[in-house]
Amino acid sequence: MAELKVYNSLTRQKEVFSPITPGHVGMYVCGPTVYSDVHLGNCRTFISFDIIYRYLKYLGYKVRYVRNITDAGHLEGDRDEGDDKFSKKARLEALEPMEIVQKYTLGFHKVMELFNNLPPTIEPTATGHISEQIEMVKHILNNGYAYVVDGTVYFDVEKYNNEKPYGILTNRKLEDLLEGTRDLSGQDEKKGRLDFALWIKAKPEHLMQWPSPWGMGFPGWHIECSAMSEKYLGKQFDIHGGGMDLAATHHTNEIAQSQACYNVSPANYWIHTNMLTVNGARMSKSAGNGFLPGQLFTGDHPLLEKAYSPMTVRFFMLQTHYRSTLDFSNEALQAAEKGLKRLWEAYENLGSLQSQASALRTNAANAETDNRCRELIADFDISMSDDFNTARVLANMFELVPLINSFKGGQIPLNSISRPTFELLQKQFTTYLLDVFGLKDDKTADTGRLDSVLQLLIQIRKEARSRKDFATSDKIRNELQQQGILLKDEKDGNVSWNII
Ligand code: AMP
Ligand code: ZN
Repeated sequence: MAELKVYNSLTRQKEVFSPITPGHVGMYVCGPTVYSDVHLGNCRTFISFDIIYRYLKYLGYKVRYVRNITDAGHLEGDRDEGDDKFSKKARLEALEPMEIVQKYTLGFHKVMELFNNLPPTIEPTATGHISEQIEMVKHILNNGYAYVVDGTVYFDVEKYNNEKPYGILTNRKLEDLLEGTRDLSGQDEKKGRLDFALWIKAKPEHLMQWPSPWGMGFPGWHIECSAMSEKYLGKQFDIHGGGMDLAATHHTNEIAQSQACYNVSPANYWIHTNMLTVNGARMSKSAGNGFLPGQLFTGDHPLLEKAYSPMTVRFFMLQTHYRSTLDFSNEALQAAEKGLKRLWEAYENLGSLQSQASALRTNAANAETDNRCRELIADFDISMSDDFNTARVLANMFELVPLINSFKGGQIPLNSISRPTFELLQKQFTTYLLDVFGLKDDKTADTGRLDSVLQLLIQIRKEARSRKDFATSDKIRNELQQQGILLKDEKDGNVSWNII
């Protein structure tokens, strides 16, 4: 088995992965902020870590995968300024903050399930760990790296930086960071411009607040991940991950907090995923260019030419390495749809070749084909062990597809390869497709049958429309919608359907 190499953002190089406890991996990934729906960009990050989790398991590691839910303490703006987003949303939707949390947590879980992401082994919430966060803030204060101003506790970045490099994760000096920092309101309270809040004094109208040694308040965002990762993975653990946008502030502050509290850097390997972009701009909640996964699955968005299934979107993401940017486009998604279909066909062909395979010999009739086949398969593990290169594995799979199809079509005799090679091919093709990449066939027997029935209804609707019998055509559309099936008229005159 190839040794696993991981690109570590902390050292800016690929390193051989060596966990603290042999055979076990502790991995913490920053989870969603549940005051609104996750967009497709967020999903890219969670899918990337799902692949990493799946591959670690495939390698035989026992993985404790912790992904938190941020359900408190997220303020408007980058640096602990302005309104709490949960309270704001609760007021807007006339709900309790915890109803907001529940609604968007359930929505998030549903999306993760649709993308076939495995659940983390622990999913702690910030509101469920207030006392742990308070303890950690107390500890940092006792160690002299924080100060209290009128019920708010700030981390003293400059004092910390005198002893340890604050900008270690992004390789930036404090002077450069200070230069790039704007003067923000509320600045007067802080000693230094980069200081950040560990605990925030709550205004009386603030909906979620807890008692603390500094009065009623709520935790800062960064402290939640430090407290929960320590609780479930220990002061030092193997992998910490999240999107690249978290490195400069959130993760930088997490490292400072753990160092100030326990005098250790929390994670040995920092893994950051690159951003999903739309026309070159980062997809984000604030930019308003974030598709919701639901909109993709129904095609209901002005930028979408049609609906795309969750597996098409997952596959689209796997075709690009997690550290490269990925730009959203209809063309790329449509190409992914075709590519994935070809993979499933090859997978089915492999299955149907099984009966012939039992007659294969242990020697291949064509050593060259047999060797090529083995090389391509062996490269699956080599590519994944080279910093999880899903794109290269897929390229190899696509080299195998015409070969498999030719075996099936009879253009190349199956006995060109040996029985062990066929067995390896089938095992690895299946394992990678289903277990490592977490793809599942959208067209199961049931959906296939449903599709036939729907095609019939679509045809009847078309005929009704051409007779100008809109009562019938609307009835078909509306009643299907009531059953949770959405028909979409495409620009090319075709009609697609999706389950909503
Ligand atoms: P948030 O809920 O905004 O804290 O984001 C949850 C996760 O999604 C974090 O790890 C972010 O870094 C990540 N993320 C946010 N925007 C994008 C994007 N456009 N592409 C990939 N990941 C993203
Ligand atoms: Zn975090």
